[in-house]
Amino acid sequence: MEMLKEKIRQEGLVPSDNILKVDSFLNHQIDPVLMMAIGEEFARLFADAGITKILTIESSGIAAALTAGLKLNVSLVFARKKKSVLMNEDVYMTDVHSFTKNETNQVTVLKKFLPAGETILIIDDFLANGEAALGLAHLVEQAGSTVAGIGIVIEKAFQNGGARLREKGFRVESLARIASLTAGEVTFVEECVQ
Ligand code: 5GP
Repeated sequence: MEMLKEKIRQEGLVPSDNILKVDSFLNHQIDPVLMMAIGEEFARLFADAGITKILTIESSGIAAALTAGLKLNVSLVFARKKKSVLMNEDVYMTDVHSFTKNETNQVTVLKKFLPAGETILIIDDFLANGEAALGLAHLVEQAGSTVAGIGIVIEKAFQNGGARLREKGFRVESLARIASLTAGEVTFVEECVQ
């Protein structure tokens, strides 16, 4: 997605060889125009997948999931990383190891918001090692629903998450795929000289 790639080129920061910081438009401050375009692109890619609900994880997946939900005309639910004291009802739960925070969270979603028989689109902001997406897929499986696809805003293709998800048969659509972040430079997959 060219508009997203241009934004990454202009505003993305590379603090280390495996982290991209995009807090000026995705992870802290949010660019609503770009986010609407991201939702439209996910909706276009998954138009024929029969999506009935979107599942994401708090917090940075929510904006993209919201605009995709608006365009696909379905509701979204975000899994919580910390179990709230207010969540005394029945939940599905799975452990997700966070790549950026290096901690494992018990990720939960209320059963009533993730019923059986749904066709789910999983959305997240980044794909690194695939832990978050696999955790969300595990919640969908527990619910007795189906994962129709996984929509990722930025895939770091030099990490193994994409391969892990695709090997398991999931349809993964990433709007920007990064081949490397070496020497402070963002190189997209399409720009890679083979
Ligand atoms: P995974 O679960 O695929 O290993 O990592 C994806 C999750 O870690 C995303 O939900 C995202 O929050 C975070 N993440 C992984 N890599 C990056 C990165 O380079 N930049 C940012 N901002 N977040 C990342």
